[in-house]
Amino acid sequence: MLFLDINETDFDTRFAAILTRGEETSLQVTEVVRGIIKDIRSSGDDALLEYTNRFDRLGLADAAGLEITAAEIEAAVAAVPADDLAALQLAVERVARFHEKQKQQTWLSTEESDILLGQKVTPLNRVGIYVPGGKASYPSSVIMNAVPAKVAGVREIIMVCPTPGNEINPAVLAAAKLAGVDRIFRVGGAQAVAALAYGTASIPKVDKITGPGNIYVATAKQLVFGQVGIDMIAGPSEILVINDGTGNPAHIAADLLSQAEHDELASSILITTDRGFGEKVAAEVERQLALLSRESIARASWDKFGAVIVAGSLAEAAAFSNRIAPEHLELAVADPFGLLPLIDNAGAIFMGHWTPEAAGDYLAGPNHTLPTGGTARFFSPLSVDDFVKKSSIISFSEQGLKRLGDRIVQIAGLEGLEAHARSVSLRLEESK
Ligand code: NAD
Repeated sequence: MLFLDINETDFDTRFAAILTRGEETSLQVTEVVRGIIKDIRSSGDDALLEYTNRFDRLGLADAAGLEITAAEIEAAVAAVPADDLAALQLAVERVARFHEKQKQQTWLSTEESDILLGQKVTPLNRVGIYVPGGKASYPSSVIMNAVPAKVAGVREIIMVCPTPGNEINPAVLAAAKLAGVDRIFRVGGAQAVAALAYGTASIPKVDKITGPGNIYVATAKQLVFGQVGIDMIAGPSEILVINDGTGNPAHIAADLLSQAEHDELASSILITTDRGFGEKVAAEVERQLALLSRESIARASWDKFGAVIVAGSLAEAAAFSNRIAPEHLELAVADPFGLLPLIDNAGAIFMGHWTPEAAGDYLAGPNHTLPTGGTARFFSPLSVDDFVKKSSIISFSEQGLKRLGDRIVQIAGLEGLEAHARSVSLRLEESK
């Protein structure tokens, strides 16, 4: 863990390792993934079965076994305690209610009564959601991907999730049922992404693939982009906490570790205007690390990519945060709304001492699929917008074409496109 002052002369050099973590997209991984995509395209289900048996140790004899049946889903739901189902149901409802507010309507507007212009919003027909399952399983990822798709009106939601050793957390299947997923396949990795992008006999081809995953999944999404839409390329997770010396160091330490326990490559940074407070948080992180069942992952992340930074002012801290453009930003200060106007780049902003990031991870309502690696400078959280497309509507009356036709012909002339010009002038002549 780095403990440093933002004004130290070698600050940027010492901090660089944190900023560039996870960037080394290995050429080797790209080659492996290219090969997997090629095999799925040429051999479909046979290759899908072979890769799934190999990577996830399934031992399936037939591709028919790749789909999780309705009976298996029912059995999983029955195995989840009623109180856990209630928690998942609450999350589904709250996430749905938030995303309903994002919905955009089709609109039409008239211009001087002779031209009608507008935008038609249409849900995507079929989407694939990738739910990671290699090292851990995430019912919350199911909810955060499926619910916005459902709210958008997507006709069919196909979920893929690897089930190493043919084991799956029943809560993942229960979340899928509650969120309205239509079909679920026990496949993962690059082979699942390729199957969704190109289709196989058992897995239908989708229009867009969303959802996080490891380097094989992320690389596959990058390589099939264009064939299908994708949401974003999610890198390792990160949290940045801005603090003014107020609050409880134990709370902030727990928040930092809530990212560190995700992944050895996760990054957790505290920037505080109070050096003494920073020292207390650092000591508290050490104490709490020992309490975690995922201690080794969290410790690796904190040791390598954790930092406590001392800033001269909150304005300086906000400027630093804007440079990082963190996926998760906590404003753990006395007046978070006073600081908010200074924040330009962040995936999700958690306001004040009573808003731990975990609230947003699970059930506050906003999406937890957020831009990472500084891409919050130009990307937004996953939303209903990711599951619709828009078509422009243009309707000229005869009067409208007469009003603007000459100008259209004029611009077509500037481009030397005669057929363009003629398509208008022929109509104008007829209308005289
Ligand atoms: P995963 O489902 O992404 O990957 C498992 C699959 O990877 C396997 O089925 C296999 O097909 C493939 N694979 C593994 N080793 C391979 C190899 N050597 N060659 C080819 N393919 C191989 O599950 P995971 O590994 O647990 O990773 C999940 C990732 O998702 C983590 O990095 C986690 O932090 C991230 N995550 C992010 C969010 C978010 O919202 N940003 C949420 C949950 C998880």
